[in-house]
Amino acid sequence: MIRIGYGTDIHRLEAGRPLIIGGVGIEFDNGAAGHSDADVLLHAITDAILGSLALGDIGQHFPDSDERWKGADSLTFLRHANSLINDAGYTIVNIDSVIDLESPKLRPHIEQMRENIATALDIDTGCVSVKAKTGEQVDAVGEGRAIRAQAVVLIESSSVTSDK
Ligand code: MG
Repeated sequence: MIRIGYGTDIHRLEAGRPLIIGGVGIEFDNGAAGHSDADVLLHAITDAILGSLALGDIGQHFPDSDERWKGADSLTFLRHANSLINDAGYTIVNIDSVIDLESPKLRPHIEQMRENIATALDIDTGCVSVKAKTGEQVDAVGEGRAIRAQAVVLIESSSVTSDK
């Protein structure tokens, strides 16, 4: 049995906030606003993993009203979602994702993001795709007011017997 999941997320950009994407801290004037570390890419991937087995969304599992998750490392959310699908007998086949951000350029950081995600999920880096695009100066992303990410994940049951 194979299943697919999709996740998306958006955060406002604000002065004085850290910019953390895919577990990589990036030097920039603005960072993403949010209750946790506001890692938009990890939130989108976490939602995609949860969605693959219809396990709800990141807000249900890690509500922003909960002080435990204030400033939380979003790799924690990613690992938890993965453990839920592992417990159900599934493993990740591959992930594809897109980050929309006007600036700074993300290309120098993409490989580290892929490694961080692959390590957290215990899968090969070759199974994790991260792409980056600008907003072409239009919309909230293009005007530098927001960062957005989208992700799809394919999962498969780990054993033949769990197909039934
Ligand atoms: Mg988020």
